[in-house]
This record gives sequence, C-alpha cells and structure tokens, in this order.
Amino acid sequence: MRLLNFIDGQWVAPVGEEFQQDYDPATGEVLLEVPRSGREDAVRAIAAAKQAFKTWRLVPAPKRGEILFRVGQLLMDRKVELAREMTREMGKVTLEAQGDVQEGIDMAFYMAGEGRRSFGYTTPSELPDKFAMATRDPIGVAGIITPWNFPMAIPTWKIFPALVAGNTVVFKPASETPHLAYQLVKILEEAGVPKGVVNLVFGSGQEVGETLISHPDVALISFTGSNETGRHVAEVAGGSLKRVSLELGGKNAIIVMDDADLELAVDGIIWSAFGTTGQRCTACSRLIVQAGIYDELKERLKARIGALKLGAGLDSSTDVGPLINRQAMEKVHKYVQIGKDEGAHLEIGGEVATDARLSSGNFYLPTLFTDVSMEMRIAQEEIFGPVLSMIKVKSLEEAVEVNNRVTYGLSSSIFTSNVNAAFRAIRDLLTGIVYINAGTIGAEIHLPFGGTRGTGNGHREAGTAALDFFSEWKAVYVDYSGKLQRAQIDD
Ligand code: NAD
Repeated sequence: MRLLNFIDGQWVAPVGEEFQQDYDPATGEVLLEVPRSGREDAVRAIAAAKQAFKTWRLVPAPKRGEILFRVGQLLMDRKVELAREMTREMGKVTLEAQGDVQEGIDMAFYMAGEGRRSFGYTTPSELPDKFAMATRDPIGVAGIITPWNFPMAIPTWKIFPALVAGNTVVFKPASETPHLAYQLVKILEEAGVPKGVVNLVFGSGQEVGETLISHPDVALISFTGSNETGRHVAEVAGGSLKRVSLELGGKNAIIVMDDADLELAVDGIIWSAFGTTGQRCTACSRLIVQAGIYDELKERLKARIGALKLGAGLDSSTDVGPLINRQAMEKVHKYVQIGKDEGAHLEIGGEVATDARLSSGNFYLPTLFTDVSMEMRIAQEEIFGPVLSMIKVKSLEEAVEVNNRVTYGLSSSIFTSNVNAAFRAIRDLLTGIVYINAGTIGAEIHLPFGGTRGTGNGHREAGTAALDFFSEWKAVYVDYSGKLQRAQIDD
C-alpha cells in the first residue's frame, strides 16, 4: 500500500514523487510506502489552509463541533482495527493501543461539546451605558508536528481543539507512524471537514517540519517531541513571533514512602516504567524510595520485572513490546553502559533480548538499576526506554528535593498512606502533573496536560487550556450612551 498526502481536499503524490518505507518494529517487515515530501508540498498545504481559513472561521462553532462529534463516532466504530494497525506500526501492546485510540475518541466528544461552550465572559464596564465582553477568536493556520509514541492521541489533542476554535491545519506526523495519521485524516474527511481545512503532509522534520516552523503564513505551531528539536522549533518559529506550544521530554519519578501500600506501589511502578516499553513522555524512569522499604521493594520489583514477557504487541500474552527502532535500542544500551560506568548497580536486564523468537525486532530487556545517585546521568537524562533507576532517600523532604532536581517537570507520583505527606507532596513537587497512590502515567483528556521547566514553554494541552492556545482573546466594548465616554477619565 502506498499512502498519499492530503492537500486542499485531494489525495496527492508528493511533487518529487519520492517515497520511503514504514516498518513493523516487532518483525522488521515493510508495511507501507509513504511520501517523502519536500518544501513545495508543505507550501501548497499551507496555501490551501490559508485559503480555507477564510470560510472555516465563519462556520458556527457548534457546527464545527458537530463534525468532531462524527469524527468521534467513526473513531469509536474503528477502535479495534485502528489499535491493531497502531501496534503493527509502532509496537505498543494492543490494549495500550486501544487506550491511545480511546483518548482520541474522548477528545473528539469533549471538543465537540466545546463547540457549544468555548466560553468568553461579560463583565461590568466602569462607565455607564457601556457593555464589555471578552470572546475567543480563531488565529489562522496551525502547524501540527507530532511524535510517534502516541500516534492517535497526540494528533487529536492538537487537531480537534484547533478545529473547534476555527483554525485550519497542516499536520506533519512523525515519520515512524504515518499509517495512523493517514487513518485519522481519512476519518476527518469522511466526517465532513471541508476541503483545505485539514491538510496532511508526510515527510521529514528537516524538510516539511522546517517549512512549517519558518513559513510566514503559519500562525501557530503545536509541537510535541524531544527537547533538542523543541528548542530549535521555538527559536525558528519564535523568530517570526508565531505562537508556539512545546510539549517535550520528561524524567518522571515515583516516590515510595515507608508507609506505602507496597503491592499497589509495585503495580503502579511496573505499569509506569515498562508500559509502552518506557517510551512515554510520562514514563517513570526514577524511583525515589525511603530507606526503610528500599530492600523489600527492590526484591519485589526484581521478581516482577524478571517475569515480564517480551513479544509482539499483537500477542495478547505480551507485557512489553519492542522499541521503535534500532537507534532507540542503541540509545537505551548506551545509557545502560553509562549507568554501569557511573557506579550504579545493574540488578536485572541491561541487554538486548537474545531469545531467537525476538531476533528480528527491537527488543530490550526491562532493566533495573539500584545504588543510583541523583546526579548520575541515568537519573537526569531522558532514556525513553525500559530502564528504571532506584534512588534511596531518608525523608519526604529529601524525596521532593530529588524529584525536583532535574531539568524536566512533567509528571510525578507518591505512594503513601499519610494524608499530610500527600498534600505536602502536591504542594512541593514541581511538575505539571502529580499523582497520589498511582503511577506517573494515565492522564485524562479533560484536565490540562503538560509540564513545567524543561518539559515545555508553559502552555497546556487538553482540557479547556487547549482552547487558550488555539484561540486569541478579543475584548469588545459596546458604548450605547450616545456620547464620547473616556475610560479612566470620565466617570
Ligand atoms: P522528535 O523531536 O525526534 O520528533 C518530533 C517531531 O518533530 C517529528 O514529527 C519530527 O519529524 C519533527 N521534527 C524533527 N526535526 C524537526 C525540525 N527541524 N523542524 C520541525 N520539526 C521537526 O521526537 P520523537 O522521537 O518523535 O518523540 C519522542 C520525544 O517526544 C520524547 O522526548 C518524549 O518525551 C517526547 N514526548 C513528549 C510528550 C509531551 O506531551 N510532553 C508526549 C509524547 C512524547
């Protein structure tokens, strides 16, 4: 099967007629051919979106929301099939892939509802016979740039609020997950999104991504990906004063206090550290453990990690799927070596899976390091794989300090049965998301999502916060006094 770009309501080949292959990370099998588009394709898509904005911004928001409602219904009808395709394309186990699609469904219905809300506000004027209100305006063409690890959820977090707010879209998905991007745009087309309102251009960050972030007709960039790329996106797009939202990496921690329910904590840790093979921005890669239960927790974790079954995500008995590609495996292994060199103790894992059954995929053994100190690189840098580091602390204060001493600020969690400790942690943990007695993953779409400090630039996705990014506030004053009234001067 050969995919095409979607520009101005037409499925078209890239101008250069170049294609590349998309692989199954569990088997190495070629799945599809995908356009390797260039600058010209992106420019065409931007022009189509610019033209379509003229009419889409005038479509009543409830009508825009109704289209999203149909999108939600189509996603629901195809959930199982889409999840299956996702597993083949990026490896996560099918149940998690279904969760990824479900996030898209939830977001579609939520944003459909925002078509009838998107509230502004009225407020009394300081002058008599004068009315004051604040409303939301659409902004223009939104460049949507996404990573591969949530190939349905993340694009929907961006595209749906962009559309309901009245913007048009040029979508550049990650090169590793073109098929899900294609399926999503097919559904948007089928649901009745008018031509030019959503455009899809496959291709590299260097070609298509660069065009989006530098083109003067793109008003907004919503980017999720690595810190390195995000910093570059901010510099280039910020240079022309585009509005830029960055959702970047994480180095998320779970704190386990002596008084925690250990069984529950172990469940939360295993799910957060090894779910999606550690390739979630919210994945737990640091475990901050109070000294009294450190040894017991270590033993329990070793037993559970040793029992995790690696395999293709389509096999229902699989716990942990493959990493996305060979480079990711090499990166994970490099960090394991760094951890050993730094003096951390490798308890379990730490190598590429040698099982013949797994030899054609990108499988890495779930890994646990102990005797890790807060400054070590494995405790500071995002590894984005199945590697967990245990750090011993004496108190809640020290645990919070260790949690906060990284450049990232996405998600954190604490297991404790002490309500005072829980509330102190909520107050003091410097992350955009905090969980009590649950792991670091599993955000719900009607709450704001995003991180502090190095994880982004202060915007939030999801919830009504998403509308704040995708719309512009307009203050409106209606003076019905029939005379000149000067604010701050006449009263
Ligand atoms: P990446 O930065 O390599 O790529 C992200 C996207 O940017 C891709 O579509 C890529 O093609 C594009 N891109 C690359 N170079 C570009 C350029 N010069 N100009 C414009 N676009 C360019 O990230 P990835 O490997 O796909 O994803 C993994 C990263 O994403 C991890 O760091 C992870 O933590 C992060 N992530 C963050 C969140 C969040 O919400 N905070 C969610 C998921 C993933």
